[in-house]
Amino acid sequence: MSEPPMRIETKLVHAGEPLPRFAGAVEMPIFQSATYEYGGEGSYHDVRYLRTNNTPSQTALHAKIAALESAPAALVTASGMAAISTTLLTVLSAGDHLLAQSCLYGGTYDLVSKDFAKFGLSADFINADRHESWAERLRPTTRAIYVEAMTNPLLEVADLKAVVEFARAHGLVSIIDNTFASPINFRPIEAGFDLSIHSATKYLNGHADIVAGAVAGGAELIERIRHKANHLGGSLDPHAAFLLSRGLKTLALRVRYQNDSTLRIAGFLESHPAVARVHYAGLESHPRHARARSLFAGFGGVLSFELKGAASRAEEFGRRVRIPIVAPSLGGVHTLLTRPATTSHAGLTSEERARLGISDGLLRLSVGIESTEDLLEDLEQALR
Ligand code: PLP
Repeated sequence: MSEPPMRIETKLVHAGEPLPRFAGAVEMPIFQSATYEYGGEGSYHDVRYLRTNNTPSQTALHAKIAALESAPAALVTASGMAAISTTLLTVLSAGDHLLAQSCLYGGTYDLVSKDFAKFGLSADFINADRHESWAERLRPTTRAIYVEAMTNPLLEVADLKAVVEFARAHGLVSIIDNTFASPINFRPIEAGFDLSIHSATKYLNGHADIVAGAVAGGAELIERIRHKANHLGGSLDPHAAFLLSRGLKTLALRVRYQNDSTLRIAGFLESHPAVARVHYAGLESHPRHARARSLFAGFGGVLSFELKGAASRAEEFGRRVRIPIVAPSLGGVHTLLTRPATTSHAGLTSEERARLGISDGLLRLSVGIESTEDLLEDLEQALR
């Protein structure tokens, strides 16, 4: 009789853990070894060496993340950008073309818009909300379509079902950056995506103490990405692997708490007289609330908002909050506050930002695991 399938909370703790346990250790040890005794491997990619992504720290995480994402296989990498760049350089070859969502994480946007041409690759940016406009951007050389689960910093939710259908109809590899949702709120492979990517620096690790990345998908595609990673070299270090494995164990507890806390904070901000606008897909006023509700189990821990009055008020608000730390990044236990115009989107001109709907006074809040009451009281005093 086959074993009953584990639920995600159990997978977080047990899936992929090395068995038998090393010396009975309950927690996965740190395998601080670059190289491993030769065991008769015939291929370069099978030689057990940290850069070939097949050492115990790495394979345990591959199995755990594959289980969480309901994917046949997964690969961990040295950063989210290593996962993104290695995946794109596997799926695309010189001469190939990519369709990419117009509002992407800045690092990905720069890779596609600035570095692609040097590799002989091209891309068109699409409005991921308007599927009827995508076909006109298709070329005979289009190989893949790339989107994000929720966009940064405006928390837009693209027509993800249409992305999967469009990719299937046109023989494209469908790729999604699932960082903002995490597998607790959304599992893209179950929704039909070919590849799901994470900056594991964010929710998966959750403690703001490492950078790491991951990509999950079909076994053959992940093996091709692993071979590319072996050549490009962005492999995860054993100590970071240990911290990621440890952080993952509490993912469900953290993300569900962050979902609830962020929804309450979004509601509080929306009804506050000093706040002009709140962007959070969990709010009924969000233009894609119904879509987000049908796709996601929760709306995540990031929201953005604008204060009434001059943009300089946003700067002052950052000085007045006591609990949120003014710092980039997201998805960890600490509540972090940023002004995208001076951090993630500082590379764009004020006009470019305005075109994307990012005002100079926009604030982004990544809600941590502190008491929701304390955060509400703190935001209230800062707004006052
Ligand atoms: N994807 C998203 C949505 C991100 O927010 C980030 C980083 O902020 C990345 C990818 C890049 O991840 P990393 O910093 O781990 O390379």
